[in-house]
Amino acid sequence: MMYVIGSGPAGIACASALLEKGREVTMLDAGVELEPDNRRKVEHLASTDPARWTPEDVRFMKSSVSINTRKIPVKKVYGSDFPYLPLPEFLSEGSRHLDIFPSFARGGLSNVWGAAVLPHREEDIRDWPVRIRDLEPHYRAVLGFVPLAAAQDDLAALYPLYAQNPGTLRLGRGTGAFLQHLEIHKDSLRGHGILFGRSRLAVKGETKEYGGGCVHCGLCLYGCPLQCIYCSSDTLREWTKSPRFTYRGNTVVTRVQETGDRVAIEGKDRLTGEKLSFSGTRVFLAAGILPTTHILLDSLKIYNQPLKIRYSQYFNVPLIRFRGEPDDLSEATNTLAQVFVELLDPVLTPETIHLQIYGYNDLYGKAMENSLAGPLFKLFPPLKEAVLRKLLIIQGYLHSRHSGFIELTLRNKGTESVLKLVPRENASSRRIIRRVMSKLWKHKELLGAFPLTPWLKIGPLGMGAHNTGTFPMSAAPGPLESDRWGRPAGLRRVHAVDASVLPSAPASTITLTVMANAHRIGYHDEAD
Ligand SMILES: Cc1cc2nc3c(=O)[nH]c(=O)nc-3n(C[C@H](O)[C@H](O)[C@H](O)COP(=O)(O)OP(=O)(O)OC[C@H]3O[C@@H](n4cnc5c(N)ncnc54)[C@H](O)[C@@H]3O)c2cc1C
Repeated sequence: MMYVIGSGPAGIACASALLEKGREVTMLDAGVELEPDNRRKVEHLASTDPARWTPEDVRFMKSSVSINTRKIPVKKVYGSDFPYLPLPEFLSEGSRHLDIFPSFARGGLSNVWGAAVLPHREEDIRDWPVRIRDLEPHYRAVLGFVPLAAAQDDLAALYPLYAQNPGTLRLGRGTGAFLQHLEIHKDSLRGHGILFGRSRLAVKGETKEYGGGCVHCGLCLYGCPLQCIYCSSDTLREWTKSPRFTYRGNTVVTRVQETGDRVAIEGKDRLTGEKLSFSGTRVFLAAGILPTTHILLDSLKIYNQPLKIRYSQYFNVPLIRFRGEPDDLSEATNTLAQVFVELLDPVLTPETIHLQIYGYNDLYGKAMENSLAGPLFKLFPPLKEAVLRKLLIIQGYLHSRHSGFIELTLRNKGTESVLKLVPRENASSRRIIRRVMSKLWKHKELLGAFPLTPWLKIGPLGMGAHNTGTFPMSAAPGPLESDRWGRPAGLRRVHAVDASVLPSAPASTITLTVMANAHRIGYHDEAD
């Protein structure tokens, strides 16, 4: 029996490869689910024609979202924060304020993610012991069960699609006008190292029929009532009838121990605290970077030794269009990222910088109203509509080489061990982000838009959830590293398959590569 720990994207991708190979798999999962009351409300929406949803029907999703303009708010789903493990008991008190969230949810953080999915490029992962050609078949395998909405456009030369017949999503009027303007100036933009295309989203594309795919209800940022945004628990549901797959929820794994050709797994029941134990031939840890690192350090009894969480620096800034037709604020459209812009400018950094462009939505609109712009909007009411109809939002990421890192240490406190996290800033991140703002300003005519730089927010370390590399894969692993199959030095039958083993965090999105790598490791489960 093979054990996979965790039902997030990494666990599901790894289990999928093992099942493809005919293995018997048991998934042990902390498995927290959406509260029953909210679940009933979502089911009511899902079984009602969206044209008949009332504001009252969707209020439970919207009312719990706080729009704090000083801090980037934590995203909720279906009015709940169940995907985030509240004040995890395995974090030291001083580390609980950081913006890095472990999940104990069935489906992990894919309950709440933005579903942006780009693969990595060879140049992004030159410090890894695996090449893109090693990952390619696994990008394809993953996109065989994860839906993709994308277009075969210029970005495909840089980032292959790895999927046949992707679905489509309608662009909002504002993002459509922005993209049209970029298309006109495509050659000049490329000359300045600015490439762009439609976003790539793990979302079921639009259908005319209600029930098949996206119906553009505009609720994406609150949780899709029709479950068109991929969550790894969707795949889990499809496996319930598989005779070779067993799911055991409410199970928190604490340690693993290799003995001969078996692995003993220690854990506890999440609800009762009762001790649990299992024994398998191999264990694949996919509990998310903090829980997996905690399990490994505690199992290997590595205390008080600092290691690094590599981080891809996150920032966001409003972008005001001054070309093209204004947005229609009442238009219902998908509210995830609609356009991707990639900056390849060696003057800024040798690495790519990834920008996700969002159109107007009520959440960002309210954030703008609650910001410095609020008093101006009150003084000149027509200004409000004029600005909001031209508003786009950029969410940007840097490569981890130009970002800070989080120092992580496991402290043993008698019967329990806690992780201490200390953020370590990188002065070059701010410098590069400022240069990105200058570059966007400089090319504003080609972009038809300029960034509202005074509104720039640079996320605290951890924010954006692109965290990797506590046990980085290496061709010749030393202490606190793992081999190309995710096995920390000294272990043969325990594989870490989530972001813990990715040696760096390129700017483009993280989860598709986490899944491809987990699938690759699961697929080569005979590695010795
Ligand atoms: C707001 C937000 C937006 C995001 N948007 C994007 C995006 O657009 N694109 C992108 O690429 N990434 C995005 N991410 C990141 C993405 O969600 C993660 O990369 C991804 O979920 C990681 O998958 P995972 O399976 O490794 O871990 P997780 O999703 O954290 O899943 C961990 C799993 O392990 C289980 N578990 C944890 N501890 C234990 C234990 N001790 N015992 C048993 N089970 C355990 C949990 O129940 C869960 O099932 C976003 C994240 C957030 C928070």
